[in-house]
Amino acid sequence: MTHIHPLDGVLAGRLAAALRKPAAQQPLWRDPRRARDVVAALGRAGPIVTPEETARLSRQLAAVARGEAFLLQGGDCAETFADNTEAHQRGNLRTLARMAGVLAQRAGLPVVKIARMAGQYAKPRSQTVDAHGLPVYRGDMVNSAEATAAARTPDPDRMLRAHAGAAETMALVREFRRSGADEGDIYVSHEALLLDYERSQLGVDTTGPEPRLASGLGHFLWIGERTRQLDGAHIAFAELLANPIGVKIGPSTTPEQAVEYVRRLDPHGEPGRVTLVSRMGHALVREVLPPIVEKVTASGSSVIWQCDPMHGNTYLSANGYKTRHFRRIVDELTGFFEVHRQLGTHPGGIHVEVTGDDVTECLGGAPAIAEADLPARYETACDPRLNAGQAMGLAHSVAELVAR
Ligand code: PEP
Ligand code: MN
Repeated sequence: MTHIHPLDGVLAGRLAAALRKPAAQQPLWRDPRRARDVVAALGRAGPIVTPEETARLSRQLAAVARGEAFLLQGGDCAETFADNTEAHQRGNLRTLARMAGVLAQRAGLPVVKIARMAGQYAKPRSQTVDAHGLPVYRGDMVNSAEATAAARTPDPDRMLRAHAGAAETMALVREFRRSGADEGDIYVSHEALLLDYERSQLGVDTTGPEPRLASGLGHFLWIGERTRQLDGAHIAFAELLANPIGVKIGPSTTPEQAVEYVRRLDPHGEPGRVTLVSRMGHALVREVLPPIVEKVTASGSSVIWQCDPMHGNTYLSANGYKTRHFRRIVDELTGFFEVHRQLGTHPGGIHVEVTGDDVTECLGGAPAIAEADLPARYETACDPRLNAGQAMGLAHSVAELVAR
């Protein structure tokens, strides 16, 4: 942690300016003064990750951008306090490691593993109120999923609990890594959504081409589809970070916007600093992705192209469950690989929602899950995840696509 310094005047000023921009998806805290105290308290807490680890990930991501490695990112859609148990988190890590093993072996490329873990506690939502007229659940870092007005009121003290949970989880990740249950590193990531949390643990990193803010909250942070406004606070915040950054891009993204994300977030042309995570949906990926890839490539930058085949393929089953079909997930991945093969770019990685638990949330796969099976073990706090069996099936499908 030798090169982390307190924020100096210039960076502190740029951070304040970024945070003054319009910020989508932020809660109205029950007690804004308490929220400020919590942010200050988090600033005095120990960081979740070290800058040395983050720098090592950056070097590995540069190899992904050059086409020499593959990036596997995955985990729960939303971590929860209740499920932050050793059994659950270990199961997720084991699933991710096994998927990586299949990919590495079949594709003959090193696989960089990033878990959605140790901070994935805040969720963007499409609506502000639910079917009962209550404020929506925004993740355990903000409020409770329980359907009462009191439980749904955003409570800043939840940020402290989330941070403590993330610290415990990170200790588990380190132990998993050391135990030899897996070869190599596992990094952690979450969506940089809740700005009061994200602003709380920032130091200065002077090892890059310009002084930047090192987040101690995760190795890799991404900006979601709902908060990627070019004039908004999230992109302005991400621009200041030293950590590698992802941006989720949905089907409404224009090639010009994609180029602008890269220009803003990677002004020095550092390979792998930016990961563009396309989540277009299986029906659109072959049409919408090519002009984006062409324009970004023509701009001369070397981003990582990563496919999230989950979020563009979500729908409501006839019996009322938010789900995704395995076939469509594989179809979007197939389209993603087709596009990159045609354009001569590296299909650099995948970003998936998976768990080691035996859940019934996504349809299809083998053994197949049918709509009637969904109620049996539908446990997610937010989006449907592949279970361990489906995840391994997916790893084999992707390995074939990589090796082809
Ligand atoms: C997510 O990754 O859980 C998510 C909300 O994704 P997106 O921003 O792509 O919708
Ligand atoms: Mn999700």
